[in-house]
Amino acid sequence: MLEGRAPKGQLGHYPLERLKRVDKPTTYVGPNAQRVSERQAGFIKASLGEYGPRLQAEAARFISKEPVGASLTKMIQDLGSLSPVDVYPKAAPIPQDLAAQSRHIKALGYFLRADCIGICELPQYAVYTEDREGRPVELDHKYAIVFLIDQGWRTFNGGLGSDWISGAQSMKSYSTGGFMATVMANYIRRLGYEAKPHFSDHYKVLMPPLVLMSGLGEMSRFGNTVLNPFLGPRFKASAVTTNLPLEPDKPIDFGLQHYCKVCKKCARECPSQAISHSDEMIVHNDHETYELDVEACTRMRVGNPAGSSCGRCIKVCPWNKPYEGIHKLVEWTLERASLSHRFSVWMDDLLGYGRQNIEDKWWYDLEEIEGIFQVPEKVGAVVKSSPLAQKKEVLAVEEDDSE
Ligand code: SF4
Ligand code: SF4
Repeated sequence: MLEGRAPKGQLGHYPLERLKRVDKPTTYVGPNAQRVSERQAGFIKASLGEYGPRLQAEAARFISKEPVGASLTKMIQDLGSLSPVDVYPKAAPIPQDLAAQSRHIKALGYFLRADCIGICELPQYAVYTEDREGRPVELDHKYAIVFLIDQGWRTFNGGLGSDWISGAQSMKSYSTGGFMATVMANYIRRLGYEAKPHFSDHYKVLMPPLVLMSGLGEMSRFGNTVLNPFLGPRFKASAVTTNLPLEPDKPIDFGLQHYCKVCKKCARECPSQAISHSDEMIVHNDHETYELDVEACTRMRVGNPAGSSCGRCIKVCPWNKPYEGIHKLVEWTLERASLSHRFSVWMDDLLGYGRQNIEDKWWYDLEEIEGIFQVPEKVGAVVKSSPLAQKKEVLAVEEDDSE
């Protein structure tokens, strides 16, 4: 007998099912958004030499100069080289109830250890015109299944957000998401439907619109980045695009737009001052976003002399908390009481969130130089200094680039 019904109620670790759903995202997304090339991304521009020779050289090593990041990067490369299973010639006899099918797919995602999963129709503007190698992209899949993978609160708690483990935190979520998306795409192909995994160096789609439209977050102050109510900004996303018939989720509203307007903690703490302090969003490519100095952020992440990459904005965001006890209560309050937002940011500082808790630091600070891992000269020095000194330090690195 064909069972396969997913259980009713909450499917994963977080209660996504109880979030307030809305017909449209809480920020404007217009009808004239255009597809973009992946080669416009800051990391790709750096690797193509558009930010100078030093950044171009660093782009090839900024994650793999640290040994955990290097090991995870190798895993991502290997996952990307796997051949997909051929689509089976006949569709398997599975139920055609779209809601049940969607719950089944989400239950599989949680079985594979995703932290949050949503489904949306694939907007064409989210499909790249060309990938990072300059190859044209065409994708006519109707749906996207979107996974969020936690980068690990404890590791963020033990670090500065811009030190030697920072790049590995991203790569951990990218590689885990790559595993999940590859397995799920091959499962769907065995059921007789087209499916393609998207992760890390192997995206053919722009992820923020998919995270937004699949009801996994709202647009945040970090430029074109979406924030989730349970993980905050502490995740990476992967996806499977497919023609398997599914029921899309709706976007969510958990009060982030007002919160980001008053908080600005990420803008205050960003070592390169790339994040806008403005009260107003801009409209870019027919969607609302806060302005981000992509070049300044890329220079910090790729060229960081005191760590591997940067995620200082993630580390200090008040939504980056473990989802337990008092934080569930705080989250409940935040969703409902916009007057308490300013108070909650003040409390966040007062309670010391955003500082390093050395008891949670489990990794070695190591940097590969000429084929040998060594103790690096600087460890998180950029963020230990004052905001003005941070800015000067980053600018000093930028001046080196122009030499
Ligand atoms: Fe975030 Fe670091 Fe980029 Fe600033 S430089 S936006 S803190 S990743
Ligand atoms: Fe929004 Fe504050 Fe988080 Fe920045 S730190 S994304 S302003 S909530």
